[in-house]
Amino acid sequence: MSTIAQSTLYANGWIVTMDDAGTEHPSGWVLVENGLVSATGSGPEPEAAARIDLGGSVLTPGLVNTHHHLYQTLTRARAQQADLFTWLRELYPVWSRIDAEAEYAAARTGLAELALSGCTTVFDHHYVFPRGRDGLIEAEVQAARELGVRIVASRGSMDLGVSDGGLPPDELVEELDAVLAETERLAGSLHEHGPGAHVQIAVAPCSPFSVTGRLMEESAALARRLGLPLHTHLAETLEEDAYCVELYGCRPVEYLERLDWLSDDVWCAHCVHLSASDIARFAETGTGVAHCPTSNLRLGAGMAPVRDMLDAGMRVGLGVDGTASNERGDLFLEVKQALLVARGRGGGGAMTAREALRLGTRGGAALLRRDDIGSLEPGTCADFAVWRTDGLELGGAEDAVAGLVFSGPHRADRLVVGGEEVVRDGELVRADEAEIARAHRIEAGRFTS
Ligand SMILES: [Zn+2]
Repeated sequence: MSTIAQSTLYANGWIVTMDDAGTEHPSGWVLVENGLVSATGSGPEPEAAARIDLGGSVLTPGLVNTHHHLYQTLTRARAQQADLFTWLRELYPVWSRIDAEAEYAAARTGLAELALSGCTTVFDHHYVFPRGRDGLIEAEVQAARELGVRIVASRGSMDLGVSDGGLPPDELVEELDAVLAETERLAGSLHEHGPGAHVQIAVAPCSPFSVTGRLMEESAALARRLGLPLHTHLAETLEEDAYCVELYGCRPVEYLERLDWLSDDVWCAHCVHLSASDIARFAETGTGVAHCPTSNLRLGAGMAPVRDMLDAGMRVGLGVDGTASNERGDLFLEVKQALLVARGRGGGGAMTAREALRLGTRGGAALLRRDDIGSLEPGTCADFAVWRTDGLELGGAEDAVAGLVFSGPHRADRLVVGGEEVVRDGELVRADEAEIARAHRIEAGRFTS
C-alpha cells in the first residue's frame, strides 16, 4: 500500500507544533502517514488520501499527564478539609478494598476524563496492593488499550508501615522482595521499548514516609538494570519536611540524594518545598518534577516554585494527581492552573500561556524520557488534540492559543493517538461515556464509608 493511501491531511487549523522554536501555523495543516506526523506547514496543501477540515480549530500536541492515581476516582470528595497526612490516614483503609474489577472501572473513568481533556499519554502511579489481590496493573493497562490512549503504568510500593514509623497501616505494606519480583515480572510482560510505545512500566516507590530507604535503593537498582524510569512523591508538604528531619536527620532532597535518586532517569511529584539549593541540585543532576497545582491547592500544600525551576533549566511537566485530591481529572485545567499558580507567586509576567502549554506537552514527554511524543514534527507520533474556536468562550480572542489557556478547561473536539481517533465530535470513539460512568458508580459503591 502506498503512503498516500494511508495518509490523512488535517487542514485549515491553527497548528501548534511545540518544536524547539515554538513554530505555529495560524492557518496550516498536519500530514499524518502510518501513524506518524510526516509534515506540518501552511500554504499549498500536500496530497493525501483523506482530508479533514478543522474549520479554524486549534490543533496541539496531545497532553502528557505525569502524575496520577487512577484508582482514586473511586473516592472523590473525601476528607474535605484535611491536610495531606490527615487525608492519607483517613483514606488508606478505604483504599485497601481495591481489587482488579474496581481498578478497571476506575481506570476507564480516569482515562476517559483525561482523553476528553486532550491527553494522549497517561502516567499512573499505583502503590496500593492489598495482599492477595492480583491483576491491578493489568486492569489499568487493559482500560488504556480499550480506550486507545498510551499508558506508562508504574508498579509502586509501600513497605514502611505505622509500626515501623511510617504513615500507612501495616496491613497495606508489602515485603521488599515481593515488590521487586512483581515489578520485574510486569516489566517483562508489559513494557515496550523504543519509539511509539503504547504501554510502558515505571518503578515508583510511594514516598519517604511510606517506603524504607532500602526499598528506594533497590528499586533504583532494578529500574537501572531494566532501563525503566523512576518516580516518587517528594517535598509535597511542610509536614513531610519535618517527618524526614525526624526520621532521617535531613530534608527530603538531601535524603533522595543519599539514596542515589537525584538523576536524569528520575522525576518526582510535587516538589512544592524546594529551596534554591535544592533546585540547583535538581538542575545539575537532570532530576525532573511533575507539577500538580490543583492538588497542591486542594490539600493546602502550597505552590511549587515552577518559574525558578524553569529558569534553572529543570525538566518540569504537569500532572492532575489522583482524583481524591483533584476531583477533576482534566489535564487542560492543569495547564491553566500552572499559569495561575506561577503568576500567584511571581506576578503577571511569571509565565506565558504558551509556556504553560509547553509544560503540559513537551515538558511531560521529557519527564517520561520520550522524544516521540509531545511535539508535532516529522517522525513524531501522530498524537494530537483539536480544540474548537467557534464556541462562546473564545469569542473575541484574536490569539486563539492564548485564549484556550486563559479560558480553559475545555473538552477536546478530537483526539488522535498514533493516527487513530480516540475522541471525535467531543465523544469517545471506542467506548460509551455513559456506560463507563454507570459501571464506575456500581464499583464506587463498595468504597463508601
Ligand atoms: Zn500523588
